Amino acid sequence: MYLTVRDATKTYGTFTALDRVSIGIEKGEFVCLLGPSGCGKTTLLRLIAGLADLDGGEITLDGANLSHLPARKRGFGIVFQSYSLFPNMTVAENIGYGLKIRGAARAEIVARVADLLELVKLPQVADKLPGQLSGGQQQRIALARAIAVDPRVLLLDEPLSALDAKVRAELRDEIRQVQRALGIPTLMVTHDQEEALALADKIICMNHGVVVQVGTPEDLYHRPVTRFVAEFMGTSNLLSPDDVGQLFPDLLATRPGAARAHLACIRPEQIDLVPDADGAATVRSINFLGNLRRLEVDSPVGVLTVETHGVNPCRTGDRVSLRVAPEACTWVIDDEAPAKSIQSGAVPA
Ligand code: ATP
Repeated sequence: MYLTVRDATKTYGTFTALDRVSIGIEKGEFVCLLGPSGCGKTTLLRLIAGLADLDGGEITLDGANLSHLPARKRGFGIVFQSYSLFPNMTVAENIGYGLKIRGAARAEIVARVADLLELVKLPQVADKLPGQLSGGQQQRIALARAIAVDPRVLLLDEPLSALDAKVRAELRDEIRQVQRALGIPTLMVTHDQEEALALADKIICMNHGVVVQVGTPEDLYHRPVTRFVAEFMGTSNLLSPDDVGQLFPDLLATRPGAARAHLACIRPEQIDLVPDADGAATVRSINFLGNLRRLEVDSPVGVLTVETHGVNPCRTGDRVSLRVAPEACTWVIDDEAPAKSIQSGAVPA
């Protein structure tokens, strides 16, 4: 691992914002720190940036302990949620700022700024002030400024959350392209699971100050370990073993040992719906969403959500039978069941 955080703990008074959190980022990797509001993502990013002090644990970069190094000596680039450009400097001065204070020659700064403006696709704005740019343009400049000094790690704190949906999606793709082109190890904080799925090589999912699961976007979506992750990563049908026994008895064979309470997690697109006059379920509602249809289906154990692509064979009120392939069902720990605690996270290798 290039950057590692080991057993990071941070408390505010009696409140534990981070409880022995361990994570790692490889060289060139794009990692998303994902979790609901208040789970400790920004706190962790700030500790890594050197903008807050650890109460316990350590942070290393390429084997060297950074824990007590001030922010400016860590060599990291940071982009925050709100545009943090200097308002009275031009775009070029903003981007060149870090190079200037490092004593770079003027010609070198001019050339580097021009390259970076090309990279973020805004070659014409060098002489404008930040206030003359849109929010999306300002975030591109903030990105250019952060990467101008060849940071050892790029830290992004919800950089897209103040933008509207279209600009957000465009800039998301561009951040990814720039990161790939330059190979900068990047850690991005987001509470948006779609953003994390689309961007990350690796997602670190947090809740209540601990890491709950680390894996690829596919792992987190298709193989969530806990109910919390299953629910946070998208829509899922969560069924008790008794419900599974009634609806899909074949799936019971895939159930893990009974040491903990488990639920079956079945994603809406993994349920096959077949028109069947003798079927045990009834279509309650159909929502057309363009590329797919989302159906609510009344089953003997309650309402299930089903998504279908292509031609829809059903209408509201139709009777249907439901099928799920055994490999499409994941058993998750019911971490929201009474007296069950969330499993703490994986330690980087
Ligand atoms: P969000 O997406 O809302 O920013 P987050 O996951 O980034 O959430 P943090 O900002 O890391 O969460 O905050 C974690 C917890 O620590 C929150 O409950 C927050 O209220 C608390 N907290 C953060 N900073 C401080 C502080 N300076 N003093 C006291 N409590 C704090």
